[in-house]
Amino acid sequence: MFDYIFSLFSNDMGIDLGTANTLVYVKGQGIVLKEPSVVAINRDTREPVAFGLEAKRMLGKTPANIYAVRPLRNGVIADFDVTQEMIKYFIRKVHNRRSLLHPRVVIGIPSGITEVERRAVKEAAEQAGARPPVYLIEEPKAAAIGAGMPISEPTGNMIVDIGGGTTEVAVISLGGMVVSKSLDVAGDEMDEAVMQYFRRKYNLLIGETTAEDVKIKIGSAFPQVDEQSLEVKGRDQVSGLPKTISITSEEVRQALSEPLKLIVDVVKATLEETPAELSADLVDRGIVLAGGGSLLRGIPELLSRETELPVTRAAEPLTCVVMGCGRYMEELDNIKRSRGRPSY
Ligand code: ADP
Ligand code: MG
Repeated sequence: MFDYIFSLFSNDMGIDLGTANTLVYVKGQGIVLKEPSVVAINRDTREPVAFGLEAKRMLGKTPANIYAVRPLRNGVIADFDVTQEMIKYFIRKVHNRRSLLHPRVVIGIPSGITEVERRAVKEAAEQAGARPPVYLIEEPKAAAIGAGMPISEPTGNMIVDIGGGTTEVAVISLGGMVVSKSLDVAGDEMDEAVMQYFRRKYNLLIGETTAEDVKIKIGSAFPQVDEQSLEVKGRDQVSGLPKTISITSEEVRQALSEPLKLIVDVVKATLEETPAELSADLVDRGIVLAGGGSLLRGIPELLSRETELPVTRAAEPLTCVVMGCGRYMEELDNIKRSRGRPSY
């Protein structure tokens, strides 16, 4: 009972700790923070000097003694200290410290992270003022909840979350992940593939941000009715001079074919490991896509052709995980109040 009354006053939070973006949802307020999961570090002191948006803005425009890292880039924690500092920064930025109550926190984490990494995440949240216990939830599960899938029912639900660093695929039934796979190929690899294509075909060097821009503006996974072209500026690898090239949707699709094939393969591999009863459910329910990478044009069509299943994109692919974390927290309240059977 007291827990319930506390929960009405504290700023309970759901956090999506993504490889590319961190989002925070506060109960009663909605999504209050959305920043890149980036930390700028001073090379000499090894201390973080900026986080999130500010750190990303410093990229490429900083003096040589500052560099930026994405501590979760491959879905595993590359640097514990930096990751912990980043989590603390985001929680403190949102948490109203005048409030005497410590917020309860649910954090969505990549499903591939280890027990030691999980402890580091919890510890950082507690140091930032979260009320123990800090709850962790695997991203695919949070994404499925956020996408409104009926995961607590005894039926198969398949979610494919294509983020920046990782693609996470899971089949969920009765609130648990029955089969899950994590692949370190997603949006970042698509950008990398675009960069390589320019280098190989046109001897043109382009930056990561330009490559992402090309992908978002004219990229696709499947032929589109409105094929486009785009002027792209970069540096000629041979002459060293600035150069502009015009590139078509078709070429970008060719550039993206490698990473897309890997994503298709991991979805197929997951389907192969899915128990027959649940596979049967998928024939009707199909596959739901989440994550920023799923916004690439034609991804549902490509996956549908390859798996022969219906494929749909969640209504809000970028916010599914954080909304799912929020819903999960509310569900924890219901369980406590009713002492009933948890539905997740
Ligand atoms: P994470 O959960 O790993 O932090 P996100 O779900 O935030 O990742 O997705 C980030 C990825 O989505 C980036 O690689 C970004 O380039 C990609 N992305 C965002 N919008 C689009 C779009 N419209 N088309 C293609 N890719 C997109
Ligand atoms: Mg994500």
